[in-house]
Amino acid sequence: MQSFRPRRHRRASGPVGPVGPRPSPSPASVPHLAARPAPVPPPRVLTAAEQAAQAAAVAASPFTSLGLVETLVRATLEEGYTTPTPVQTAVIPHVLAGRDVLACAQTGTGKTAAFVLPLLQRLAAAPRAEPGVKVLVLTPTRELAAQIDERVEAYGRHLGVRHCVIFGGVSQRPQETALRAGPEVLVATPGRLLDLIRQRVLRLDKVTHLVLDEADRMLDMGFVRDVRAVCAVIPTTRETLLFSATMPPEVAGLAKALLKNPAEVHVTPAATTATTVEQSVVFVAKEDKRALLERVLADTQVARAIVFMRTKHGANRLSDQLARAGIQAGAIHGNKSQNARQRALDAFKDGTSRVLVATDVASRGIDVDGISHVINYELPTTPESYVHRIGRTGRAGATGEAISFCDPEERGLLADIERIIRRRLTLNEALAVGLPVVASSASDPGRPALTGGAPRAPQNHRNGGHHRGVSRGASRGAR
Ligand code: AMP
Repeated sequence: MQSFRPRRHRRASGPVGPVGPRPSPSPASVPHLAARPAPVPPPRVLTAAEQAAQAAAVAASPFTSLGLVETLVRATLEEGYTTPTPVQTAVIPHVLAGRDVLACAQTGTGKTAAFVLPLLQRLAAAPRAEPGVKVLVLTPTRELAAQIDERVEAYGRHLGVRHCVIFGGVSQRPQETALRAGPEVLVATPGRLLDLIRQRVLRLDKVTHLVLDEADRMLDMGFVRDVRAVCAVIPTTRETLLFSATMPPEVAGLAKALLKNPAEVHVTPAATTATTVEQSVVFVAKEDKRALLERVLADTQVARAIVFMRTKHGANRLSDQLARAGIQAGAIHGNKSQNARQRALDAFKDGTSRVLVATDVASRGIDVDGISHVINYELPTTPESYVHRIGRTGRAGATGEAISFCDPEERGLLADIERIIRRRLTLNEALAVGLPVVASSASDPGRPALTGGAPRAPQNHRNGGHHRGVSRGASRGAR
């Protein structure tokens, strides 16, 4: 299967001029596009009145006030964005002004547009004489990489920009072909990118803008050396943007080494969960979790649910068990081929399956609208993952519900989560009705009181001392 999206779009003749009909990618030739929203059809010729209305809408758009050019503002209007999100309001002017940016923002805040929109504008305004990758986006997972690339396509639809995406786990050959087509924007996972650089398939000596997306997760996944090695072959004159959901000292250290006098943006405090997500916990014995899940899924209010497991084996087993119970559920985790992952994701997106069973790493970047429920069938071993998990619902202002199943061995993990989100999860008594009783928070001396003081520093999870009953190996296995 192809793992990239080579595009050869006609460039605008001027930095901001509109271009003619955009060549639409054929879903057949771009397999992982197949179940995405249909590409925007070529624009028909507008009447004079429609042109005037469009010009007025662009002029009145707050995206115009942020300094974005007409071609990009038009794309945001076509995406249905009326108001920039806080991270967009904060970041876009800095990037347009040429500053490095250090942004603490979780997924679901609109951070992709916060960097893609102004970078496309900078790219369009730059002289085009020299071929080569100008904008490089590093991101931890293939799903996230594919989705950022899709956003480049969507936001850049009136500019015409050559872009492609590369990631590991699939054949390298088609990616080499895509790179030969001369992308100006390259979205990549660090490992495969470094392989290609070392094989001299790719040079990065023309890069003017580097984005490190989900930096905390890249470091968690052990990419720090790869990231540093990639940065070492990019011109030091570049501008650098770093986005991270949390800001542990490792990320701060990387930022210090790579960014120059950055503008700092904090749209949400580290490890703050979206207020639009209702969060609850059910205390349940491990052996009763499956019956509880079936009870949750029997509710028709659960329109689209993502169920989180710690391990890929657990995810496979659970999706098989659900299938036997007549519940169609795809699974997505690191052991699945890219094709299988994409099939599961596509079925979830188009509603063929209402339930997706996922591990933490595989779920990064899953950007599916209308996820009504996140179910933590197993609590994560790193409390920050809880924040990422529940960020899959309640996106872009929608409401959502997150239900955590906590068995007696997971009490320590729950305490860790509650400490970093600085709140207690509500007991979901309605769901617990009829389940064998396990100690609840009120009667459970093992559930420490929240101190209300500073949350435990995120990096502490690495010492393993807080994870009673669950080994770190479990989360590593999920990758
Ligand atoms: P991100 O945090 O970049 O993963 O974006 C989360 C979701 O918000 C995506 O589905 C975007 O399409 C959507 N989004 C981004 N910016 C806006 C905006 N200004 N208004 C409405 N939705 C947006």
